[in-house]
Amino acid sequence: MYLRRLDKSSKLLEFIASSIIGRDGVKLVKLLEDGVPRTVEEIAFQTGIRASDIRKALYILSNLALASTVREYGGGQYGVYQYKWILHKERVEGFITQERRKILKRLKERMEFEEGNQFYACGNEGCPRYTFDEAMDLNFRCERCGAMLKPIDNSRFKEILTKKIEEMERTLR
Ligand SMILES: [Zn+2]
Repeated sequence: MYLRRLDKSSKLLEFIASSIIGRDGVKLVKLLEDGVPRTVEEIAFQTGIRASDIRKALYILSNLALASTVREYGGGQYGVYQYKWILHKERVEGFITQERRKILKRLKERMEFEEGNQFYACGNEGCPRYTFDEAMDLNFRCERCGAMLKPIDNSRFKEILTKKIEEMERTLR
């Protein structure tokens, strides 16, 4: 179970990294997965990925708290500090939970909006849906095509929302 969970975390890290810099993202994660801190130059040397792409991916991952730098003394007489990157696979699960909570919050807000309003539409394809206030401001004429606006039933949409909210709550339990 522990191994499987780690594996899922790797996959998600690979997915995020590759959505930033393409297939190289997978290479980047596979290299850093061993937990050894590396400078951008070392990563570039070991993977052949462009340094600018490595920085881009690591900065975004660090904004998500999924990567960070450690400072290491470079050594030598004029030794300087080097910044080395590590990935935080152990934080992936917390990250997923946090994202799911955000989605759940948005779904619930959407539900409140759907429940708190009566909606109007002309019924023509591509035309928008209006709230009661919007429809009244338009004298119940569609802004786009000029046709008469009629009340519409959003109960099917609310059913779908309810299902999504329940699903999301189940994964967060
Ligand atoms: Zn219309």
